[in-house]
Order: sequence, then C-alpha cells, then structure tokens
Amino acid sequence: MAPVETKTYDYIVIGGGSGGSGSARRASGWYGAKTLIVESGRSGGTCVNVGCVPKKMTWNFASINENLHAARHYGYAVDDNIKFDYAYFKSIRDSRIQRLNGAYENNWGKEGIDLVHGRARFVEPKVIEVTSTDGSETKTRYTAKHFLIAAGGHPIIPGVEGAEHGITSDGFFEIEELPKKWAVVGAGYIAVELAGVLAAVGVETHMFIRGDTFLRKFDPMIQETMTARYEAVGIKIHRQHKGFKEVQLLKEGKGAEKVLKLIGVEGDEIEVNELLWAIGRAPEVEDLKLEIPGVKQARSGHIIVDAFQNTSAEGIYALGDVTGQAELTPGKSFTTIYLGNFVLTREVAIAAGRQLSNRLFGPPEFKTAKLSYENIPTVVFSHPEVGTIGLTEPQARQRFGDDKIKIYKTKFTNMFYDFFPDEEKKHNPTQMKIICAGPEEKVVGLHILGLGVGEMLQGFGVAVKMGATKQDFDSCVAIHPTAAEELVTMR
Ligand SMILES: Cc1cc2nc3c(=O)[nH]c(=O)nc-3n(C[C@H](O)[C@H](O)[C@H](O)COP(=O)(O)OP(=O)(O)OC[C@H]3O[C@@H](n4cnc5c(N)ncnc54)[C@H](O)[C@@H]3O)c2cc1C
Repeated sequence: MAPVETKTYDYIVIGGGSGGSGSARRASGWYGAKTLIVESGRSGGTCVNVGCVPKKMTWNFASINENLHAARHYGYAVDDNIKFDYAYFKSIRDSRIQRLNGAYENNWGKEGIDLVHGRARFVEPKVIEVTSTDGSETKTRYTAKHFLIAAGGHPIIPGVEGAEHGITSDGFFEIEELPKKWAVVGAGYIAVELAGVLAAVGVETHMFIRGDTFLRKFDPMIQETMTARYEAVGIKIHRQHKGFKEVQLLKEGKGAEKVLKLIGVEGDEIEVNELLWAIGRAPEVEDLKLEIPGVKQARSGHIIVDAFQNTSAEGIYALGDVTGQAELTPGKSFTTIYLGNFVLTREVAIAAGRQLSNRLFGPPEFKTAKLSYENIPTVVFSHPEVGTIGLTEPQARQRFGDDKIKIYKTKFTNMFYDFFPDEEKKHNPTQMKIICAGPEEKVVGLHILGLGVGEMLQGFGVAVKMGATKQDFDSCVAIHPTAAEELVTMR
C-alpha cells in the first residue's frame, strides 16, 4: 500500500463555527499562519445554522405579531385575524442563512485559509485523518504544530422510549408548518426562547420544568418575574415535573396533523402536535479519538482546558461549546471549576479564539493573551428580553457577605405600554437590579428585563467591565424618555 501523504500546516482548526472561524481568521489573516479549517457540516457552525441567527430571525418574526397587537391599542385598525405564512418565513430565513454560509467561506478564502469539508479524527498525537463529506469518502491526513478543537456540541435527546418522535432545537429550525399545541421540556435559555417565540404567534405552549422557575442560573428576580410573565400570557408551566417515561407517535404528519402522546413518570398524560427536547447540549467529541493525543475530558465529555485554552496535550487547544463550562484552574492540576451563571455564547467562542491566535502567532506582547471569562454579558431573547452581567444576588452575597453588598432595584411599566389596558400592562413588566459591593459600591452584577434590554446591556456591559461604581452610573446624565435612564437614576 502506498504511504499516505500527510499535508502540513502551521495551524489546523477542527470546526468552522464561531470559535474556529474567529481563531483561524486571526491566525491567517492577521499573522500569516498557514491555516486549515476542517468542517464536517455547514460553514459557520451552530450559531449561523441552528442557533443565534435563525433564532433571532424567528424572535423578530414573533415580535412583529406582538407589535401588531400593540398597534391596536394605539388606534391602528389591525385585523383580529391576521394571517401569516410561516413556510414563507422559513424559506427566506433559510436562503439568508445559505448566503451567510457562503460569506463565511469567502472570508476564509480572502484571508488565505484553506477549507476542507470533512470529518476529522486523530490518528496520531499530531496527525488527523479527514474523511471527506462530499460523498467520495476520500481520506486525507494533515499535521500541524498547533491544533484547535472547536467542534461545538449537539442537543441531547433523553433515553426515553419514543423520544425520537420529538425534536431538538436543530429540528425546530426545520419546522415548516406550526403545531397548534406543543410541549417544551427544559428550563434553560434555549427552552425559554423557543417556547416564547411560538407562544407569541399563538401556539398553545406547555413548558415542563423540574423546579418552580426556569432560567435557574439567572438572578432570582429574572427567574421569578419571567416565569410568572410567561404564565400570565397563557403559557402553561408544569412545575416540579418529574419527566416523561414514554412518547407515543399517534399520528404522523406536519404541523397540527402530527399527534404525540407524552406519558409522564407519574402517569400524567398530554397530547400535543410537537415536542421539543431542550434539556441541554453535549460536546461533539465522539468521533475525534481524543485518547490518541491524550486530551483529557471532564465526566460530561467536555474538553478540559486551562485559562489559555490549553488542553492536557501539548500543542492542542480547545474552546467554545466543546469545553462546556469546564475550566482548569491555572497552575493547579486538572480540577474542574464551574463559572457561576456564565453562559457559553458565540461571542465567548470568538473572543477566546482570537486571543488564542494572538498568543500563538502574534507579536511578543500577546504571549500571555487570554480571554477574561469574568463579566461576560448575556442576553436571553425571551418575551420580553433578559440581560445579565456579573454576579447574581445569591452569588454576590456568598462572595462578599450580606453586609458588604447593596442592592438597587426598580420595577415599572415601559411607556410603550401606556395605552394598553391595565390587565395587559401588568403582564409587561420592566425590572432592573444593580448589585454593588464594598464601600465604593462597585457594580458587580446587573440584571434587567423588559423591552429592548438586549440592546441596552451592551453599553452598560462596557461600564461594568471597566469596573464602574454606582457613582459612575449616577454621574451619567439620563436620556429621557427611555427605560435605560432608570439605570442611572436608581435610589
Ligand atoms: C438554539 C440556539 C440558540 C443560540 N442563541 C445564541 C445567541 O443568541 N447568542 C449567542 O451568543 N449564542 C447563542 N447560541 C450559542 C452559540 O451558537 C454557540 O455558543 C456557538 O455557536 C459555539 O461556537 P463553537 O465554535 O464552540 O461551536 P459551533 O458553532 O457548534 O461549531 C462547531 C463546528 O464544528 C464542526 N465539527 C464538529 N466535529 C467535527 C469533526 N470531527 N470534524 C470536522 N468538523 C467538526 C461542526 O459541524 C460545527 O460546524 C445558541 C445556540 C443554540 C443551540
């Protein structure tokens, strides 16, 4: 047999998603490292194809329905029976995403990055074999001094009989005809966002959660207000749910034609047209053969990294969703620490990827470059939106002590709802909480929910990241009339 040719690069990136793309572009485009991206799916990864981008587009679609409703209260003669064409919306969303796939590949090409469409696995500690995904199954080997594993993750389907009749967030973006009634199992941000969008366009939505509130990693104010708000607008929250033991497909079909029966472990039953499993994500590591280079993993399968994204194998790094929240404490042995309420996002992966390339290929001043995982702002595109940065109140109390923190809170109705009937006004809260620590009242946590808070948080995030105090907030002149002005006038 002829020896297999091995192609050599400076930098090989497994996964052309947010983190892989961000890192490869910095390495090749800025520093001229000879870089290869290996991507087995669609370019751009989760965010572009089945995450942030189609999710936000669907959130916009749902928000239009909410605004049409609001328009009536402002005197617009909006028909009660407005029709929409979800299949059309899906088709334009799909074609926009296809364009983005192409844009990613163009940018890689412009920055001198080679791309191979295939599935990578390690065959030697510093050699990968890529099986082409173009149907030919061609196998090619590559080696490099530096490898980045940015392979992301996939949604989990539980080991319940008939679970495969439900869908995950990936399947959500395949829906062409909306169900009339659906069940969402899970309490994390993906469950809350996807339940919110379909409920906002009139789909009867049942959420099954293990505790009493959803968004359990967030500040109690967010958990309690958002769970109550969802319930107030008609979403059925099944609290303290013990889970399902069986899913039966009663009728195949699309949209309202499909019928599933869900049977709970306590014997409870419900019939729905669709079931969404939103119970978490697992790292995409099964095919990588990580034992060959000796890359250590946490019990969850996530790759363990230190603060510089180093894995336990020399010259192999990992970042983004494949690392989960597992972090190696710098200078210590491989112990796993968990980062509070911090949520992994596209921007975290990109920022970590850029810093890694700065460190590996950049000028000497970047030799210790790393991403600071502290104070990462996060937005949940729920209805209304939620924005959060820093510590929750319980975390701040635990870290600083009750007597060292001061909490500022406010709750009001956004002027946008002034012409809504009182009953509806109640269902559209705006709430804000600033958590300060120490005598200087440094802002260590900021939690906001309400109309437009997603946009609001970005600017306040800069201030918190810079170490702003309550006095700094107060010294900024309020912009009137906005909801954000409350953040600089709180007493
Ligand atoms: C429904 C949903 C909504 C979200 N909304 C937001 C949001 O609003 N804002 C936000 O910031 N984040 C959001 N996220 C999270 C965000 O999408 C991820 O944090 C981000 O995409 C992670 O980037 P990554 O580079 O780690 O992995 P990914 O983007 O998942 O990329 C990994 C890539 O690696 C490829 N791959 C895997 N294994 C191999 C292999 N063996 N060989 C070759 N290629 C391989 C995969 O095909 C994939 O393209 C959302 C996620 C979901 C699921």
